[in-house]
This record gives sequence, structure tokens and C-alpha cells, in this order.
Amino acid sequence: MNVHDSQKIAALMEDSGYASVNDVREADLIIINTCSIREKAAQKVYSQLGRLRKFKERKPNLIIGVGGCLAQQLGSKLIEKVPYLDLVFGTHNIHSLPDSITTIEKTGRTLVRTDFQESVESLGIVAPSDNGKVTSFVTIMQGCNNFCSYCVVPQVRGREESRSLSDIVKEVTVLASRGIKEVTLLGQNVNSYGKTIGEGYDFAELLHEICLIGGIERIRFTTSHPKDLSDRLVRCFSEVDKLCEHIHLPVQTGSDRVLGMMNRLYTRADYLDKVYKLRAACPGISITSDIIVGFPGETDRDFQATIDMMGKIRFDNLFSFKYSQRDGTAAAKLSDEITERVKSDRLKIVQALQEKHTLERNEATRGNAEEILVEEISKNSQEDVTGRTRTNKIVNFRGSRELIGRTVTVLITDAYQHSLRGRLLNVN
Ligand code: SF4
Repeated sequence: MNVHDSQKIAALMEDSGYASVNDVREADLIIINTCSIREKAAQKVYSQLGRLRKFKERKPNLIIGVGGCLAQQLGSKLIEKVPYLDLVFGTHNIHSLPDSITTIEKTGRTLVRTDFQESVESLGIVAPSDNGKVTSFVTIMQGCNNFCSYCVVPQVRGREESRSLSDIVKEVTVLASRGIKEVTLLGQNVNSYGKTIGEGYDFAELLHEICLIGGIERIRFTTSHPKDLSDRLVRCFSEVDKLCEHIHLPVQTGSDRVLGMMNRLYTRADYLDKVYKLRAACPGISITSDIIVGFPGETDRDFQATIDMMGKIRFDNLFSFKYSQRDGTAAAKLSDEITERVKSDRLKIVQALQEKHTLERNEATRGNAEEILVEEISKNSQEDVTGRTRTNKIVNFRGSRELIGRTVTVLITDAYQHSLRGRLLNVN
């Protein structure tokens, strides 16, 4: 979501006459788009701002702005901490950014704009700053109503709000006319799409509608809350032919006790049941997840339940993190902190096990003829192109620029930890 917000920021400023530069020393405007989901992300912002201070001293007209979740959370406190900042803008103030910059250019004033002012309909398309891409994100909703006890998202992104189905379909149609072949539908919890618009639409309906749009070949989505993964949505994996066979379904822990403390509103058995249904509806579906280790009060037994769960499911890939306490969340009030050392040890165990599972899942594709949407020239070799399988695995193979945007069939010959290698069989 932050990557997509950054793309929108770049596009909006390009529309206002700014142009991107490769060297920060040449910039007249620097915007940092921030994340506050973990403490480490917040610390990175302060070090980055520290590095920018000397640029501001050398070039007083330089405008430095901070947007995103940390800006939303801290507001004017960020100006107190970093007095040479010109602008702090929140997650609902992206579209007013050109106006904010014009005001700063004219008046030299410092601005803080963090009110939840923009309607969900302003999340629509802005001119792409990255022409030639064949994949695109599409925001279908914002905010979240779930209040998982460790998470700041409901505070920094606001309550859940869905865009209208017709607006989303319009946006995807425009993207298709610009050559986009694959869309990834974005929201904090896409499974609950439609609840706030009261038109009787749900996420499954939206998938069916987008599937009808000519030119779009692939649909993906992220992220899903397990409690809202309906049977109807599971069936979409067998009924909606453009829907790719991959789901990111954050489990967070395998312990019922910790799930309860996290306020996740499902049990370990519920989660396993969803995985079973997904694999029954769509054999070969790739399932990825998130795990947090070291939640306050997590015992060795709780941790073992997570390891056991990983063994049962064998995720295709995993984002794993040490629990990071965030101000203002319910979990921040829990006292039973786990030491850094235990958190690090547990994270290492999770990551080592996942590496084994990822390699095993990648190895299982060797010998398959996979459908690949070619996205770009490989970063490692000018003679190779890169694309993804429908199950979201990166594949490199010998090929030329003309293949970009084409759907091809590739024979998988080698499997690695982070990618696959293959040989072009035919252009579809
Ligand atoms: S569902 Fe996701 S975004 Fe919403 S509160 Fe829980 S972790 Fe945060």
C-alpha cells in the first residue's frame, strides 16, 4: 500500500510540474513516505531525516515533507522533533499534496495536514509516473475496523471504507486501455470489501466484475483477514479464471491463547480449515502468511504451536517479525514482555524453517510448464527477462524486451530460494 501511495505522490507532483531526479542533491522537493507498523521503520525515518538536514542547510528553499502512517500518528510532534521539516501530511491528505506544496512555495509556512478529510473516492487513478509497466495496484478500500491488539493501522489509516464497485471497474478499465495486464487489488482487509457501501456487493462480486474487463489477464489481491475469508471467496479461486492462484493470509501465531490476546477473532482450527478449503477448491494454490514472534506472554509452548502450524501448512513464503510495541495499541498495555534475545532466537527458528519450506515448494515446480506474465528485463542479466507464475513466484529465463507484457509458457528447470529459472516454451 505504501509503494502504491508513493507512486501516487510521484505522479501527482509530476502533474504539478515537478520531475524526478536520480540524485537527491539535485532535488527541490523531497517527500519521505513513512510506515509506523514497527519501531524499526520509524527509526529509519529519523536517520533519513538526519541525513537530509545538511541538504536543507545548503539549500534553504529545499522543501522536505513527511507523509504516511508515522506522519499521521505524530502530526505536529514531528515538527517539534525535526524543526527543519516543511510539511507533515497524513494518510488521507495525499491528493491535497500539490496544493500544500504550492502554499509552502508561496508563503514559506510550515504545514501540518493530518485530518481524515479525503473521501475514499479520491483513492482512484492518477497519471502513472512509470510508463511501460504491465502490472498495477488498485486501491479498493482504506482503513480497518479490526483492532488487532498489536496494530496501529486503525489509528493511522482510519476506519474501513470501500470505494464503489463502479469506480473501481472504471479505474481498471482505464488501466487496461493503457496496457496494464495484471491488477493487484489493495486494502487492509479486502475480504470485507463492500460492507460500508451497502449496495449488496462483496469482494467476490468485485472479482467477478473485474474478470469481465477486456485486456486484464490476471487479478491478485492483498491483504486478507482469515475471519472474513468466505466460502464464496474461496470458490472464486476455481470460478474466476483470471484470479491468480495465490493468497496472502496472515496467521500471526499458531497458538489459540496468543490469537486471543491478539484479538484476531479466529482459532488455529478455523485457520487450518480455511487452508484446507482453499487447497480443496484450488489444488496448487500458493499460500503465504505473516508471523509475529515474541508477542507479550508468548510461552515456549505457544511458540511451538506456531512451529507446528508451519509444519502442517508449509507456506510458500512468509513475512516474519519480532513483536514491536506500538504506542496507543491494546497490546502496549500488556506487561509480560519477551526479552529481545528470546524474540531473536524464535525469529531465527521460524526463518530457518520457512527457508526449508520455501525451497521445498519452489522445488516442486521443477518440470512444470508455467504461465508467466513477462514484466521486465532481469535485473541480473540483460539477456534474461523476469515475470511471475500465477502462484506469484519470480521466474527468470532467456528472452528479449519484445516479450514484456506477453503471457508465455515456460518450462521450470531450476528452483532457488527466491526465484525459479526456466526455458521459454511458447508465446501464448
Ligand atoms: S486486520 Fe490487519 S490492518 Fe486491521 S488491525 Fe488487524 S493487523 Fe491491523
